[in-house]
Amino acid sequence: MIIIMEPRATQEQIDRVVKAMENKGFRININTGDVMTVIAAIGDKRLMQPASIASFDGVREVKLIQEPFKLASRESQNDDTVIDLGNGVKIGGAQRPIVMAGPCSVEENLDGLLEIAKSVKAAGAKILRGGAFKPRTSPYEFQGLEEVGLKYLSQASKETDLLIVTEVMDTNTVELVAEYTDIMQVGARNMQNFKLLKALGEIGKPVMLKRGPAATIREFLLAAEHIMYNGNPNVILCERGIKGIDSQYSRNTLDIASIPIIKRYSHLPVIVDPSHATGRRYLIEPMSKASLVAGAHGLMVEVHNDPDNALCDGAQSLTLSMFDDMMQTLNKLMDILGYEQNKATV
Ligand code: PEP
Ligand code: MN
Repeated sequence: MIIIMEPRATQEQIDRVVKAMENKGFRININTGDVMTVIAAIGDKRLMQPASIASFDGVREVKLIQEPFKLASRESQNDDTVIDLGNGVKIGGAQRPIVMAGPCSVEENLDGLLEIAKSVKAAGAKILRGGAFKPRTSPYEFQGLEEVGLKYLSQASKETDLLIVTEVMDTNTVELVAEYTDIMQVGARNMQNFKLLKALGEIGKPVMLKRGPAATIREFLLAAEHIMYNGNPNVILCERGIKGIDSQYSRNTLDIASIPIIKRYSHLPVIVDPSHATGRRYLIEPMSKASLVAGAHGLMVEVHNDPDNALCDGAQSLTLSMFDDMMQTLNKLMDILGYEQNKATV
């Protein structure tokens, strides 16, 4: 780490910092400038927390040289992670972006789900989304069909050959959800549920981790780090908008810049959920295009056969035909962006 001393730091204060760091085994390099002194300390930062040294008298600022997220960082792996999700579907790196689509929640109407699944498959989606365990802001809203919903998703997967992504809300249901799904979704509200992240680190299924509504990019990558640290390298990051200042026109603020930022610092695949990011049907297509242009490895979009009567998030769900139209446009855009056609699906 780099320790920048105050311009008026005394020699005694500088010596105290150096001694404290040396005592913890750090190698020290002191740069004495005309105005201030900068100390470079190389060693294991777990032995001396940056916040502790920052509180020493005479210290102005402490900066980290390495990213705190190690496994998720390009410092530990320069090449992009490409995750094989099964059925020939791969995500990450130079792979053609993958689209996940389906209703917000799996509802009582199995025929409706099957209709959605067949339609999004025909339009080019590779993965069916749908919540069986629903984290709802209000306890009075539909909470999901739970295991029945998982069974419906399985049925839809059998009939269409689509892969499944669905949310797991707590550690108690990790094994149950893993039996039915190809990708384990961690919802935005659970991004820092560290017990859940640990449990998902210990299972062998890919995890799609959504960004918390108020999480910084560093916190987001550190949440991914928890999963990787516990043994699972297959993490897909999902930007789904963060709390902004204007919820009148858009449910959240889609942080488009987070895509190239994450790609600069991490090798993990990153996708965008324009549905939860905006909350408005008419914003899904423009934000999907923007996400692909910004370099997203995929999209997750809510689609419903009857959005006006959806039990959850109808206002941000595309109709089947809107999704089909959008996919035609996005496919042309992917060609322009230079992504090759996915051989498995041509
Ligand atoms: C979802 O994708 O079903 C969902 C609940 O989204 P988020 O966790 O991003 O709010
Ligand atoms: Mn939803």
